[in-house]
Amino acid sequence: MKQHIYWHTTVQMHDDSNLAPIPAKADVAIIGGGYTGLSAARTLAKQGVSVVVLETETMGWGASSRNGGMTLTGLKPAMQTVIKNYGRELAKELFQCSLDSVSLVEQIVKEENIDCGFSRTGHLLTANKPKHYDALQGEVDFMAKEFNHNVRLVSPKDLRSEIGTDVYHGALVDEASGGLNPAQYVAGLAGAADRAGATLCARARVNKIGRREKRFFIQTERGSLEAESVLVATSGYTGGVTKKLQKKIIPIGSFIIATERLSDELVHELSPKNRMIFDYKHFLNYFRLWENRMIFGGRAAFFPENENTVAQSGEILQREMMQVYPQLKDIKVEYVWGGTLDFAFDQMTHVGEEEGVLYSLGYAGHGVAMATYLGDAVAKAVLKGNLKEHPFAKFGFPSAPLGLYNGSPWFLPFVGLYYKILDYVE
Ligand SMILES: Cc1cc2nc3c(=O)[nH]c(=O)nc-3n(C[C@H](O)[C@H](O)[C@H](O)COP(=O)(O)OP(=O)(O)OC[C@H]3O[C@@H](n4cnc5c(N)ncnc54)[C@H](O)[C@@H]3O)c2cc1C
Repeated sequence: MKQHIYWHTTVQMHDDSNLAPIPAKADVAIIGGGYTGLSAARTLAKQGVSVVVLETETMGWGASSRNGGMTLTGLKPAMQTVIKNYGRELAKELFQCSLDSVSLVEQIVKEENIDCGFSRTGHLLTANKPKHYDALQGEVDFMAKEFNHNVRLVSPKDLRSEIGTDVYHGALVDEASGGLNPAQYVAGLAGAADRAGATLCARARVNKIGRREKRFFIQTERGSLEAESVLVATSGYTGGVTKKLQKKIIPIGSFIIATERLSDELVHELSPKNRMIFDYKHFLNYFRLWENRMIFGGRAAFFPENENTVAQSGEILQREMMQVYPQLKDIKVEYVWGGTLDFAFDQMTHVGEEEGVLYSLGYAGHGVAMATYLGDAVAKAVLKGNLKEHPFAKFGFPSAPLGLYNGSPWFLPFVGLYYKILDYVE
């Protein structure tokens, strides 16, 4: 099993062979070249705004080219929790944003002619235990009544029409979700931003952001620039340059394996409708097919990607994949890789302004559609000056309980253990 991001073998990613110089001035400087930053840059550049994307590595290097490609409806927290915490009216607005986010990806892919296999395949949420299935039954009525959104139950006896395994106790289907190849998508988004007139600067780590009166002075490793607005789009890689934001984001590792190519018959058996599949656990597995390979992910190690966590996760994920699909026992796993998720302490996504700097952070593993959407939304709000009115800006961005966090997540092993116990007892 090779430590390499499989998706990168499917597309020419942006590289650093022809580095754009850092301009002296721009209207908007964006830190981070993933879906959030590139989507914002595309929208701003199309409106004639001068915009620069500053990226430590190369465009799409972060989570945006490493993820499962599941383009999902809904938010990370259950919508019941969202209603409880923020009220019915705001919950409805937030859920509608999630539906709009999938539509926006669909629209961008079409408008920009991005060859990334986007398709509304639907997602399948599988029940690990009978009582999860009971909860899913309640979910169908709840989503219809509260959000006028149709999801459908699949009973244990009909499960084989959706997935080639008997380990689950039923499932729920949401036909509105989609899937794509994440690296092809982010490469396409970078191309679109570039064509629209954005300046994309790779190898341009931002080291310092200063402010004098209403202007920002940004120091990068390749030179400095002055900008009227700054957008932080650094997700799980948020660092000390935006210290206050770093203290609100927990970086958590997520890992994926990709098998060798499978036969058409086996592919059809494993996922007859080519769904984006994930299970009900806190410590969840998510998986889908792409070009006859099984792409199987999970939070196998909690700490972000490094040689050890990736190697360890490869073994764990292969075992977990074989528990779900015993028919893959003799199949070779060719690739393993990892990336970093960004969790806020309330597991919600947040947009807003911290000391004058704009941010969109906290996608919690739910950012393919949402990062695209909020990048675009923040860009539009910059133009209109009305970011505070956006549904995702209407609630607070919590700090760590008791302030016991400086950006280095010492508590992750305890959190991991807590969720494993919860998965066992719930
Ligand atoms: C393994 C994995 C699987 C996932 N699966 C799914 C999925 O199936 N569906 C889904 O919806 N979501 C999924 N996600 C989440 C999704 O990928 C992210 O939410 C989304 O890509 C976030 O995009 P972004 O642009 O905000 O951040 P990123 O793509 O992470 O980009 C942030 C960038 O900021 C750069 N940066 C950081 N600091 C600086 C600095 N000081 N100066 C310059 N640049 C800087 C980094 O180098 C990085 O490239 C997954 C994530 C991972 C890791």
